[in-house]
Amino acid sequence: MANQSESGHIMEKTEQYVLHTYNRFPVVFEKGEGVYLTDVDGKQYLDFGAGIAVFALGYGNEEFNNALKEQIDKIIHTSNLFYNVSLAEAGEKLAKASGLGKVFFTNSGTEAIEGALKAARKYAYLKEQARKSATAMETLYAPLRSALNDRPLDDQRPRFASAADRVSDAKNASRFADAAVSPAIDTGKLDNASAASAQAGCAGDADDGAAAYEIIAMNHSFHGRSVGALSVTGNPHYQEAFKPLMGGVRFADFNDLESVKAQVSDRTCAIILETVQGEGGVYPAEPEFLQGVRALCDEKDILLIIDEIQCGMGRTGSWFACQQYGVQPDIMTCAKALGCGVPVGAFVLSEKVAEASLVPGDHGTTYGGNPFACAAVSKVFDLFEKLHIVEHVQALTPYFEQQLDALVEKYDFLTARRGKGFMQGIVVEGRPVGDIVKAALGNGLVVLSAEGNVLRLVPPLVIEKEDIDEMVRRLEKSFSM
Ligand code: PLP
Repeated sequence: MANQSESGHIMEKTEQYVLHTYNRFPVVFEKGEGVYLTDVDGKQYLDFGAGIAVFALGYGNEEFNNALKEQIDKIIHTSNLFYNVSLAEAGEKLAKASGLGKVFFTNSGTEAIEGALKAARKYAYLKEQARKSATAMETLYAPLRSALNDRPLDDQRPRFASAADRVSDAKNASRFADAAVSPAIDTGKLDNASAASAQAGCAGDADDGAAAYEIIAMNHSFHGRSVGALSVTGNPHYQEAFKPLMGGVRFADFNDLESVKAQVSDRTCAIILETVQGEGGVYPAEPEFLQGVRALCDEKDILLIIDEIQCGMGRTGSWFACQQYGVQPDIMTCAKALGCGVPVGAFVLSEKVAEASLVPGDHGTTYGGNPFACAAVSKVFDLFEKLHIVEHVQALTPYFEQQLDALVEKYDFLTARRGKGFMQGIVVEGRPVGDIVKAALGNGLVVLSAEGNVLRLVPPLVIEKEDIDEMVRRLEKSFSM
């Protein structure tokens, strides 16, 4: 066991050498077991934060740890130039659990968002290329048609716009586009003029024949900190210092279908949202809203990107929260509990999008899908099945909610509870939620906060009733500090 000065020394060294982008609590965790963490001074903490909704299986799961050790002994990394066993296994399990078609593994949630945005724009780009080819064909055939006494075009050649044709046209369009840009990429000399014309192609006027590129995102959303992900994060505070961000993003109000409809234009290629907004204050989507957005996307041929990075992987009582709404996205993002502590994320495409979007050369990452990360993902899926994690969350949710509702009932400064499954928020009024989080740490309890002075509870998915009772005891003690 370490002494007090050791933890002080570690904190000092961290502040000296690690960029100060986080205001960390003065705690140095050393190990974990089940749903408890232990700091270097030997103090134990009940963990209702799970490393920000990551450690679903709890700490020290022997089977999980052994699978990682075995993979380390076999091979950690190979690169995406080759196939690997765990990639195939993890890909199959995630594709099946999501009900979608094809998976791309990333190293974080943010990167999953980046890939999802690129896939959506590429899909729209190919759709536009196919439309242009169809128009060009019509122009070509028009004189022939009049020469043939106006016999309908469909009599002269196969129907152009069948689904199969659209896919093959899209692929051809992609090949043409690849051929056009590859010399510049090969020589690394994409000059300013090319870059400017690429930019113009992306942000032109409504009638210039450019592809749809606009993304509608939600106010109070959170999708990550890289430039693309930040651009669709509806929080001006995070964005302010980094402008100009990615163009073509419009914001609408979550749970307000009319506000989303008001942002749709003939340039909209995708709508992105979380099924349960996490950082934004733990707001679950209303069923009519999510189903309405899906219907809107179907009607206008807009892709729906659902971010399940925080609320997915069993946290709300189904593999993915959107499944409880009967809503299937075109693209889904996933991370956090996907690797249960091993840094991995993914975006998953429906077959429709996978067939007509990203192709070799469009997207990549050195680490993404590596054998180590994918061994973790594969084992997470196995253990979720074996331990009936999703069913456990369903069974324990009513008790969890009752205990939290009782707190809201008992304390005037707790004004509401909202959430789904093991992703719950309590609205705090009249005192900073940060003070409660700090006091809770003092009492050996890890809880989180979210936007809007909300106390956020996202425990490991293996908690039991007695853990909930203990959490309530420690939390109540923290209210009086
Ligand atoms: N999307 C959501 C809904 C998140 O909650 C987060 C992280 O909190 C992200 C994206 C970004 O994920 P990461 O921090 O793994 O990059």
